[in-house]
Amino acid sequence: MLELQEIRKDFPILAREVYDHPLVYLDNGATTQKPRSVIDAMTNEYLNVNANVHRGVHFLSQEATRIYEEARETVRAFIHAPSTAEIIFTRGTTESINLVAATFGEAFTQEGDEVIITGMEHHSNIVPWQLLQMRKGIVIKVCPITDEGRLNLDVLPTLFSPRTKLLACTHVSNVLGTVNPVADIIRLAHAHDVPVLIDGAQSVPHTTVDVQALDCDFFAFSGHKVYGPTGIGVLYGKRQWLDRMPPYMGGGEMIQKVTFERTTFNELPYKFEAGTPDYVAANGLARALDYVTAIGMSNIEAHERALTRYAREQMALIPGMHFYGSSDDAVISFNVAAGEAGRGASLIHHLDLGTLLDRLGIAVRTGHHCAEPLMHRLGIEGTVRASFALYNTKEEVDALVAGIDRVRKMF
Ligand code: PLP
Repeated sequence: MLELQEIRKDFPILAREVYDHPLVYLDNGATTQKPRSVIDAMTNEYLNVNANVHRGVHFLSQEATRIYEEARETVRAFIHAPSTAEIIFTRGTTESINLVAATFGEAFTQEGDEVIITGMEHHSNIVPWQLLQMRKGIVIKVCPITDEGRLNLDVLPTLFSPRTKLLACTHVSNVLGTVNPVADIIRLAHAHDVPVLIDGAQSVPHTTVDVQALDCDFFAFSGHKVYGPTGIGVLYGKRQWLDRMPPYMGGGEMIQKVTFERTTFNELPYKFEAGTPDYVAANGLARALDYVTAIGMSNIEAHERALTRYAREQMALIPGMHFYGSSDDAVISFNVAAGEAGRGASLIHHLDLGTLLDRLGIAVRTGHHCAEPLMHRLGIEGTVRASFALYNTKEEVDALVAGIDRVRKMF
């Protein structure tokens, strides 16, 4: 059991009121709120330490560098990577996946080679592969999903061919809440000698991730979805791949020696960190990981799963409720039919429902959730999405349910 009232005090923003209602923040899949320890660490760094990392002999630069590299070690330990050389700081999941698509794609794909993705990917795990397709002429194969919102694991094995170069798959769907069996998928891919990239944007905040146990080749996540700041994310990659991939961007930090004729590149992970990194955000991310570690990822997972189950049960009592997907963890996507007519009646537009919930102080996300192909598969334009974090309570779920019911009756 989490001490929710104590935990909520760590997040100053949760005490806000919105339109004279207590804020009920259920948009955690988009971004999470930040505990005071993260905010304080970043403020303190700017107030007392700030200097550019890696390049200075002076005291502050060395202290900032130490904090930055300790943050890398905190990330390594959190996802149980073998080495900090395999932890690359990026701006977020999007940049991490683009980095792999650009550099792995450059080194290891030719025209006609294939990359497998799935029917439930976020745009950030679709479009980078399409950019590679435009550049190199690769073929993108898509593993379909079932009507229950799960990957069709009967079809997946049939998608591999001798031309398959990579499989890129989300760990947890940001729309359906489906937790994909990524360990099995990685084993299957490896049996075909195909490396795997896991999009962990929606898993790292909710469950323990061990990249060595998973044996994934690449793993991407965003700091801001796991109680850290915006502007920082992580790419884990196995050294065997990173060593053979060309740099992503050129500039300071990623070089060993530069002449106008020729440049040699820095060692890992700096080869992939051109320019001044957001070292203060890296510190903030590390403090966020300390925060969830102190609470315990298994405690967080148990709380969020129980809350998700409770929310599904309560929401199912609302006439006209349509759920999309399985909601294994922390995410519920839904639409509601108008009025008392129940099923068969036309759906309240997700934007209307979200806007009216907002007037009651309830923050949810509406729309396609950056997963337009998935919306297409579901035959809808968008959903309302409630997504939970460690600080959410049953009372907030009750407020959501009452809010939906109130809005429903207005239509
Ligand atoms: N992948 C998934 C599954 C996501 O939910 C998101 C964000 O919503 C992303 C990738 C992109 O994350 P970011 O915008 O932090 O790069």
